[in-house]
Amino acid sequence: MPADSPIRPDPLPVTRKLAPQGKVNLVGLTRDALRAALIAAGTPEKQARMRTAQLWQWIYQKGLRDFAAMTNLAKPYRALLAEHFTIELPELVTRQISADGTRKYLVRVAGGHEVEVVYIPETDRGTLCVSSQVGCTLTCSFCHTGTQKLVRNLTAGEIVGQIMLARDDLADWLKPGEGMGERPRLISNIVLMGMGEPLYNFDAVRDAMRIAMDGEGIGLSRRRITLSTSGVVPEIARAGREIGCMLAVSLHATTDEVRDHLVPINRRWNIAALLEALRAYPKLSNSERITFEYVMLKGVNDSDEDARRLVRLIGGIPAKINLIPFNEWPGAPYRRSSESRICAFADILYKAGYATPIRTPRGEDIMAACGQLKSATERARKSKREIEREAGLQAP
Ligand code: SAH
Ligand code: SF4
Repeated sequence: MPADSPIRPDPLPVTRKLAPQGKVNLVGLTRDALRAALIAAGTPEKQARMRTAQLWQWIYQKGLRDFAAMTNLAKPYRALLAEHFTIELPELVTRQISADGTRKYLVRVAGGHEVEVVYIPETDRGTLCVSSQVGCTLTCSFCHTGTQKLVRNLTAGEIVGQIMLARDDLADWLKPGEGMGERPRLISNIVLMGMGEPLYNFDAVRDAMRIAMDGEGIGLSRRRITLSTSGVVPEIARAGREIGCMLAVSLHATTDEVRDHLVPINRRWNIAALLEALRAYPKLSNSERITFEYVMLKGVNDSDEDARRLVRLIGGIPAKINLIPFNEWPGAPYRRSSESRICAFADILYKAGYATPIRTPRGEDIMAACGQLKSATERARKSKREIEREAGLQAP
């Protein structure tokens, strides 16, 4: 059984953790916004650029939260910063560690909403899957996130804050005296594949990823950041221009008829429109391929004919195809394709020249897989409530 170890068994209400009134949280501010905030607080204009870089290094490379410990700044300046600013993260509510090392964090953001963050260690990398929204406005019929009613965009600080919380937990910050790149990083890759549609929260996702990619910020290469979209066509080119990270696309079907049903955004921008936008994605090359995500649903999209049609559709696009065995959730209207069906499907793609990794289900014992995020926790709570109600401990 996985260790189910709440970091704070009795979490504080989020309101008690909010920044003191009037103080600006520096986490998630773009370079320009931070520079402007420093100037407004009294930093001489000609120093502001350097101070921005110094602060970013403390915050995003060393993981510091206390201005008083920023030793390369003069003491009165540290006091000035503390007077005007805070360095605040969302609140870590619980952490679960799977038998396979996958870690799932439940994170509470302002307003009491919760999102999940998943860390997946592999031999050659460590991938952090972050959320961009609470819930999702789209209603893909196989995805549990789409059934959640509550939706709000996360702020850039809440997105980058997820990375920082995971780095806290993994002790993945630069140690004193250590330089960037001296030691392999536990979080080497970021995927925007948690809750939400990142391209419907464009500005916050862009600002957060720019901090993640900046050499004075978190400092990950843009090739180690992958944004997954269900196909918000008009924003794809903009993502290429303004973020420049790797792109994954939730294709999941090879005909409009099936995709309309699985990924309803297809009714707005169909497969042809989506593929056209992808062909125009900047920097597309064999070393920077697009990932097509394809969830394997028994009897729905998993035939040999589908595989062959998929090959024809994406012809000419430098691509790899990520086959995702469907993660079933209670009440889901689909079943996972059999292993042999998935292998036969993969074989057709492989023979056509595509790298076709089959996503190994990770962290299944803690329900850390796609489309299950948060739902398991909600169910656990519900059943706890139900148990208490039955035992007469709680009013209905
Ligand atoms: N909204 C974005 C990113 C988040 S979902 C998108 O849709 O691309 C990340 C991936 O998990 C997507 O490919 C999504 O289709 C897939 N997914 C969602 N629910 C799933 C489930 N129950 N089983 C397998 N994959 C699922
Ligand atoms: Fe939203 Fe992506 Fe789930 Fe579709 S698959 S409902 S776009 S999170």
